[in-house]
Amino acid sequence: MLTISAAGRRFPTGTEALRGVSLRLQDGDFMALLGPSGCGKSTLLRLIAGLDQPDTGTLRWDAGTPPGPGDIGYVFQDATLLPWASAEDNVWLPLRLRGVSRDAARGDTVAALNRVGLTGFEQARPGQLSGGMRMRVSIARALVTKPRLLLMDEPFAALDEFTRHRLQDDLLTMWRDIGCTVVFVTHSIYEAAFLARRIVLMTPRPGRIDREMTSPLPADGASRLDPAYATLVAAVSEAMAAALRST
Ligand code: ADP
Repeated sequence: MLTISAAGRRFPTGTEALRGVSLRLQDGDFMALLGPSGCGKSTLLRLIAGLDQPDTGTLRWDAGTPPGPGDIGYVFQDATLLPWASAEDNVWLPLRLRGVSRDAARGDTVAALNRVGLTGFEQARPGQLSGGMRMRVSIARALVTKPRLLLMDEPFAALDEFTRHRLQDDLLTMWRDIGCTVVFVTHSIYEAAFLARRIVLMTPRPGRIDREMTSPLPADGASRLDPAYATLVAAVSEAMAAALRST
């Protein structure tokens, strides 16, 4: 899908957020960008989204051109919903911006809310929903345009652990059902190990990729109780600690 070659990004403040980042993203990947705060994960995600440009290096899309706005879904740590609008209208927003009426969009908005487990909550406003449910609306809004690429920037970081686990489980089910490509930013080793097929370890000052690890867990669903999950968490922790020692 995308080849990133030796990408660098230095902000006008002088901060070198990324240096020499090379990465190949394949169709259908579930990739985690893992590292401590400030190592350039969000900067890299913004380059992939086309919201920012590298100062050095290149991004080359196999399709020849970058994906259009409807081909990319973006989910942030904060659900960023319109507080006065219903769940349905929040999910309708990206279609509305493309000129689709509420009635014409209803099939898609209701299906997207159903996919994230919110059937029956279409008319609820964000203030009437829990943090986990608000994040589900945010994910439905990202999915309603049927994007090929879903970019997620620490979407579950602000949720309690029980809600986070349920959303992680449901995200994996959605990913398998939809077959889109996911790039998921996180600073949680547990989260990266549980979710991703490919775990990209990043280190700060300047932000770089240290290495990539491939998940040995079954793609059709891992259990948190599986000893292979504990082994993977240990291996990623060790690799991350070694990477940070050498920065
Ligand atoms: P992460 O997502 O891993 O926490 P970021 O990509 O947000 O890291 O940031 C990487 C570094 O770049 C940090 O030191 C951050 O302060 C800096 N940074 C990010 N965005 C900007 C910006 N627009 N201007 C200046 N510095 C920035």
